[in-house]
Amino acid sequence: MQFIDLQAQYQHLKAQIDRRISQVLNQGHYILGPEVSELESQLADYVGVKHCITCANGTDALQLALMAMDIGPGDAVFCPTFTFFASAEVISLVGATPVFVDVDPHTYNICPQDLERKIQQIQTQGKLSAKAIIAVDLFGLPADYSSLSQIAKRHNLRLIEDGAQGFGGKLNGKVACSFGDLATTSFFPAKPLGCYGDGGALFTNNNETAELLRSLRLHGKGQHKYDNVRIGLNSRLDTIQAAVLLEKLTVFPTELERRNQAAQAYSSVAAELGFITPHVPEGYYSSWAQYCLQAEERDKVMHSLNQAGVPTMIYYQTCMHQQTVYKALYQAGDFPIAESLAQRIFSLPMHGYLTEQQLEQIISALQQSS
Ligand SMILES: *Cc1c(COP(=O)(O)O)cnc(C)c1O
Repeated sequence: MQFIDLQAQYQHLKAQIDRRISQVLNQGHYILGPEVSELESQLADYVGVKHCITCANGTDALQLALMAMDIGPGDAVFCPTFTFFASAEVISLVGATPVFVDVDPHTYNICPQDLERKIQQIQTQGKLSAKAIIAVDLFGLPADYSSLSQIAKRHNLRLIEDGAQGFGGKLNGKVACSFGDLATTSFFPAKPLGCYGDGGALFTNNNETAELLRSLRLHGKGQHKYDNVRIGLNSRLDTIQAAVLLEKLTVFPTELERRNQAAQAYSSVAAELGFITPHVPEGYYSSWAQYCLQAEERDKVMHSLNQAGVPTMIYYQTCMHQQTVYKALYQAGDFPIAESLAQRIFSLPMHGYLTEQQLEQIISALQQSS
């Protein structure tokens, strides 16, 4: 059994994907070919925003978002300490300072109360200028955008949605990657909507921002390819990856439903067994990038599952403030919720092609493990 079975998905779509890829190969527009604009328009429709700008990966998408907001040295950007490294890395990469925030104990997303505290600290210290918030849709669950947008407005901060794990999620009927001033996602193969290599995208309703992002992803281009009006990146989605994504998008809603069914099956059993199960608040729909449980005796449970042929992973063992590159500024206990999560959390297999038989095997292994 695979933790995320990418092969099962490919087998399901093989004929269509192979045909699309060979069309690209025959037609020869390998960079920014027609499939890229077709995908951008379909993704914008899916999310319900005016513009989608694809790029090379989800990390570049975040960096491009910060560049478009002109964020750099002297600026503070708030982000959760419990996330994948890229959410924090890009802040340092553009020369700004990441200010870590603890997470909500139930949703594992950035905690609005702690965010308020951290904003006030930065304002009181007066050394950095508070500029933006990067909220992460962790494990597929959208962050609390109604609280976050109020906080952003009150303190005049820009709000970025890091939807790398959240694509396909919903909050009160609005689709993930439509929140904040700018949203980003990743098409890394293991993400809810993955391609067969690296890929990413940004989403915005603002015409000027979209124009600026199209320039920034192409060496800061102006009127034409060899007119450079600003410093940018070389960050484009390959045409072949766009072709793969166009086919994958056709089955994406079905896959999301299947992920939700698997999550429900896990939760009903795991809750009875005494695990702490993921909390999906009223009005939220998760894309289940990961299905995570918390266990006091995590090592024992994982070992027992692995013995029964069920692969498991830990997302995340190390918070941002505990990473070697950042830890000098922090001490144990600074972010109690995130630190406790990092010690207890582990993930079960999750993808859209889990069979009944596999689900039964996982659930019975879970029963035996506790
Ligand atoms: C995967 C991920 C990214 C980065 O995406 P890449 O395409 O791998 O660069 C950023 N943020 C979060 C939360 C992620 O999970």
